[in-house]
Amino acid sequence: MNRTGPDPLPPLPDSGPLSIVVSACLLGQPVGYDGSSWPSDLVGRIAADPRVAAHPFCPETHTLGVPRRWMTIHDGDGFAVLERRARVVNVDGEDLSDAFIAGAEALLALVREHDARLAILTDISPMCGSAVIYRGEALPERDYQASSGVAAALLRRHGIPVISQRDTASLERLLGQLDPGFTPDPDAYDYVASPWYVQTFLEPAPPSPEPVFEE
Ligand code: SF4
Repeated sequence: MNRTGPDPLPPLPDSGPLSIVVSACLLGQPVGYDGSSWPSDLVGRIAADPRVAAHPFCPETHTLGVPRRWMTIHDGDGFAVLERRARVVNVDGEDLSDAFIAGAEALLALVREHDARLAILTDISPMCGSAVIYRGEALPERDYQASSGVAAALLRRHGIPVISQRDTASLERLLGQLDPGFTPDPDAYDYVASPWYVQTFLEPAPPSPEPVFEE
């Protein structure tokens, strides 16, 4: 099952590689708030394909470095942070909104520099999340909301398609276009079509949380 709405995948270019930006942690770089990474086999195979020019980047590390304190978005989502209607706040109560917006703008600059046509970003992150992010007001219980982090929101505002490591159907379809020897799983689904997402956000009674990403 795939997502509804516009296809997020760009067509492969007639000549030259497909330029993409990728959350650096998905390619194994130790850029998480505590130096963690969340390597994705599918994303790694796409980034390594000779028909792809992948540009890894961590917008949080760009402005805050590693390590940094755990943070979430309070009173809204990434779009609201860009509009100064919400804030990114860490566990010490520091407002990191300016640093987040600067990191997101640095990612957008990278997109423009390399004419990237797709962003593959890490879901759940308050910076890179594209389907689900934490709802900061609920700390320390870590409730969830269906929306975008700051960088994903900024890229989407500028027309850049964003998918995540959990959008298995889209990732497999892209890999199938790049590598004729790869056969996408017809039963794969993107995250917004996953049972957890549907039960949590699209049905009346949410179940207990599933995500394990700790960014
Ligand atoms: Fe950096 Fe984004 Fe990965 Fe967080 S999710 S560690 S901001 S690349």
